[in-house]
Amino acid sequence: HLYRENSTEANILKSVHKDIVTSHQTIRDFAWHNLDRWPDKTLTVCAVTGHGYTYAQTYRMSISFGASLRTKLNLQNDDKVAVILPNVPEYPCVVLGVLEAGCVASLMNPAYTPHELKHQLELIECKVIVSSKLSYSNIMQALKEMKLKIPIILLDNDVPENTIKFAEFAEDMNIDTDCLKKVKRSAKDLAILPFSSGTTGFPKAVELTHENLVHMNEMIFVPEAIGVEEASGSFQSVIPAVLPFYHIFGFNIVMINLMGKGAKLVTLATFKPDIFVEIIAKHKANHMYVVPPMVTFLGKHPAVTPEHLESLRGIICGAAPISSTDASFLLNKNKNIIFRQGYGLTETSGGISIANNTDREHHDSVGQVLAGGEMKIADLETQEALGPGREGEIWCRGKNVMKGYYKNDKATKETMTEDGWLKTGDIGKYDEEKFLYVTDRLKELIKVKGFQVPPAELEALLRSHPKIQDCAVVGIPDPISGEVPKAFVVQAGQDLKKEDVLDFINSKVVSFKKIKDVQFIDTIPKNTSGKILRKDLKAKYC
Ligand code: AMP
Repeated sequence: HLYRENSTEANILKSVHKDIVTSHQTIRDFAWHNLDRWPDKTLTVCAVTGHGYTYAQTYRMSISFGASLRTKLNLQNDDKVAVILPNVPEYPCVVLGVLEAGCVASLMNPAYTPHELKHQLELIECKVIVSSKLSYSNIMQALKEMKLKIPIILLDNDVPENTIKFAEFAEDMNIDTDCLKKVKRSAKDLAILPFSSGTTGFPKAVELTHENLVHMNEMIFVPEAIGVEEASGSFQSVIPAVLPFYHIFGFNIVMINLMGKGAKLVTLATFKPDIFVEIIAKHKANHMYVVPPMVTFLGKHPAVTPEHLESLRGIICGAAPISSTDASFLLNKNKNIIFRQGYGLTETSGGISIANNTDREHHDSVGQVLAGGEMKIADLETQEALGPGREGEIWCRGKNVMKGYYKNDKATKETMTEDGWLKTGDIGKYDEEKFLYVTDRLKELIKVKGFQVPPAELEALLRSHPKIQDCAVVGIPDPISGEVPKAFVVQAGQDLKKEDVLDFINSKVVSFKKIKDVQFIDTIPKNTSGKILRKDLKAKYC
């Protein structure tokens, strides 16, 4: 291993925490490892309808759902199931049921357009889709374009003909569950396939194994990492589950990890600011996991009062950068809150670093490397591991790092080194106390409200317009969303208007990917190998 002979090994950051021993084989084992301590506590409850499930109910349903998938739909080990759902109380049951059946759950955004879903469904080749009426017509449109028919299970009470009603399918308590005994899963098997565009190009399916997900959970299960108290007696931590479960942050760091602590998750299917505030106040939320625009909203909106935030003890913010100034507006409304940033990627099963749960000082930092992980700052030219105060690309290593990109060896090789380092595509530095600061992004990815917006995807769509000769999309700063996409367009003729471009593209993509501005230019700056020079574009025009 090269790195061991490297004189810069001293600059590889190990965690300041004790190493961890992973004791669970599969993510299903981890999720349920404390089940017998709180079977009758509420696991999920919908913020709007009040409908929900206890831990024991979810467990039983996930077993019968898994058995139904195998016996009624004949699913086998490693078959892929697309889960296209918002944050509903059934989410843990659906995903754990898929895993129970020995299958792999591919997590997709339920708001995606047919165009976006088609790309993901084509890649995954799933045997079954689990969804709701919210996404049904878009799924049908995507399948029609793919000339494909596959079983669709819907969570709603009244379901269209030719679909399967989840309640009847999953709540069949008479089902013979013996078939599940044959399902042997090991740590190295694939568990989920969420999506990320990585450092360049189109969204890719990220192969996360049981070991990856379990290791991540153990890394943050140490009390100093998260600080959510375990259920005990009549006490239960309450968390608004507003970050999407289809994203790794909502799935692994919120849903699965908190199941290990017996927490109650108050689910919100689509983010509505007034209901979000109501959840915190009415359900007396103790902790929250959020993205930067939520912090700004809670801190700055005059309708959000200190009384609304009274019960909160801890907030973890991640998925995109936030400044201590933005956090201070919220902290002025409740000085008891411990506010921390977490940093991680889908490719790391969720996390890389966070500050200790007593830390009130490092709001601008994304904290220190988690237990069981390693990190280095790689010089952009030489890849040498740099010392404190020097900026370079953040690389990380640990059992939480993905197996690779599904069916995409090229992208995997470009992102991971042979000795296990993941090149994050983020620029950062650390200080003498090993606190990490994310300072810039090397990769082309745009983050809108914490959501991934891959420029390559928007550029390919723009180029399909007959009057667009060339184009480039970059992120420009936005006070509410963090960044928004802007397109630079070289037209084939003279008669294209901004509105034509916006109408053309924005009807094909989900709301957060919509282009906010278009500028016509003569040429797109590129290097000799044809790569768009995005920094030059930004420097010249933004
Ligand atoms: P995702 O895979 O969607 O979670 O996106 C991962 C990317 O989000 C990282 O590579 C960073 O660019 C960005 N990110 C996540 N957390 C933070 C943070 N605390 N500060 C700055 N950027 C972040």
